[in-house]
Amino acid sequence: MSELNVRKEIIEYCLEMNALGINQGTSGNISAKYGDRMLISPSATPYSKCKPEMIASMPLDGDGEWDGPRKPSTEWRFHLALHSTRDDVQSVVHAHPIYCTTLAMARKTIPACHYMIAAFGGNTIELADYALFGSAELNRHVLKAMKNRTACLMANHGMCTVGESLEKAMWRAVELETLAHQYFNTLQIGGPVLLSDRQIAATAKSMSGYGVQD
Ligand SMILES: [Zn+2]
Repeated sequence: MSELNVRKEIIEYCLEMNALGINQGTSGNISAKYGDRMLISPSATPYSKCKPEMIASMPLDGDGEWDGPRKPSTEWRFHLALHSTRDDVQSVVHAHPIYCTTLAMARKTIPACHYMIAAFGGNTIELADYALFGSAELNRHVLKAMKNRTACLMANHGMCTVGESLEKAMWRAVELETLAHQYFNTLQIGGPVLLSDRQIAATAKSMSGYGVQD
């Protein structure tokens, strides 16, 4: 795929993120790896006004340098860290969806309450500790919560998913918000009955290639 097409795809998925109701305004941000650089949605730019040339380009081995007419999203640090430290990550979606953020505000992790949790690499969705948005400290917390996982909640903030493609990262974002909503609902009626590690492992085994395909 050409760089221009990746830039266009980032904008399309930003718009889709809001259309799907998993993000409001410009709080969310999306990035994709392209060669030895990361392309990321710009800071404080309404997605409907974002043009492909406004997507910021940052070297994967850099420390915040960027090319482009607009600053990268203020959350560039954890996007860059995920892209530069994980070969399985081609795309990162960060947003503040209502139910993920509600659980994150109550500082809850999501337990093995539904078999779909296996789509995120383990039997829990972990919670990244709170730190100031955009900070190096938040970056470290997100990397830790995402270890061996493709999603995490972020305390008093929101969530993050990764994928082998933008489509896959967005699919996980929608699935994670659905899971968060369902878990939240069970908390109103006494809490879920949890699946065992063995049941989740069996699901993970059956799930390879599950969901949207690249
Ligand atoms: Zn955020």
